[in-house]
Amino acid sequence: MSVSLPFHDLTREDLRLWAVRHGFSSVHAGRLWRYVYLQRIQDWAKMTELPARFRAAAEAGLRFTSLPVAIETHSTDGFTRKYLLSLPDHHRIETVLMRYTGRVTACISSQVGCAMGCVFCATGQMGYLRHLTAGEIVAQALHVDDELRSAGAGEHLRNIVLMGMGEPLHNYDAVMRAVDILREPAGLAIGEKKITLSTVGVVPGIIRLADEKRTMHLAVSLHGATQAERAALVPAARKWPLEELMAACRYYIAKQQRKIFYEWTLIAGKNDQPDNAHAVGRLLHGQAAQVNLIPLNPTQGYDGTPTDREAAHRFQKILGEYGLPSTVRQRRGIDIAAGCGQLASAR
Ligand code: SF4
Repeated sequence: MSVSLPFHDLTREDLRLWAVRHGFSSVHAGRLWRYVYLQRIQDWAKMTELPARFRAAAEAGLRFTSLPVAIETHSTDGFTRKYLLSLPDHHRIETVLMRYTGRVTACISSQVGCAMGCVFCATGQMGYLRHLTAGEIVAQALHVDDELRSAGAGEHLRNIVLMGMGEPLHNYDAVMRAVDILREPAGLAIGEKKITLSTVGVVPGIIRLADEKRTMHLAVSLHGATQAERAALVPAARKWPLEELMAACRYYIAKQQRKIFYEWTLIAGKNDQPDNAHAVGRLLHGQAAQVNLIPLNPTQGYDGTPTDREAAHRFQKILGEYGLPSTVRQRRGIDIAAGCGQLASAR
């Protein structure tokens, strides 16, 4: 018995090879790709420009990944929508649509749960359940783009942050395959430069990414500027210590000739003091770097409190003394638990 392949796991080249292997032309594969990714048609009967024999083979050999919405929530300010999506094995993940001035960004998940265990993160508090497939990552972007299209205002998804549930570099192959599918010009056409991948500091993944010809942005979650302070918040730092992480980041910057965005969750009284800011300044001084400061978002499993605006700006000012550009992230979707570190599916 032949097993059907998940269509959304296939790159355009994979689909072409599948068609050729089954005795069909590449042209048919290209037409099928456009039906699915440009016209959003998944009903074989409606693909009337494809020969019946091809459609029958495709229907028998390929299956579409669909992630039905279990729950949809909207923030009161109207800027954020969060989707709890059901996976075929009944696990669930969250995907977020965020509106900023002049752009819409999708925050996409890469795993069900996460093995990295960052203490302030709801996903980390869930533990790791499984990797997502490339198709399940792509289907999240398609869902957000469909939402924008159906609103009828001519909007399309153009920006993606891989900052949802999971550690993307722990699921490297599926994530990169998904990026290859997302950037396909005859499809979603999301340029790699419009994609930001956020890692907690998986050193082998950073080195692998540095050695590949990829143009996406890299964000590294730092949160502590000494090994002891970082390891207390990010247990993964025990496996990949700060010194190794910094060496990998310098290697990445040198190979890619591109800056790194460092993320710093600001927790009142914990890592938001002038001493902490000076330590970050010394650590990153001279690197092509930008620091994104993110006041802590509340989760049930962590009792820290967010830094206030004044302390955040004091922190920012000190970073400036070291020549480090920084931003304080606009908070979005906190009332629906859709902010950084708040995504989880076990509720
Ligand atoms: S912050 Fe990211 S890496 Fe850390 S536990 Fe949460 S999802 Fe995993």
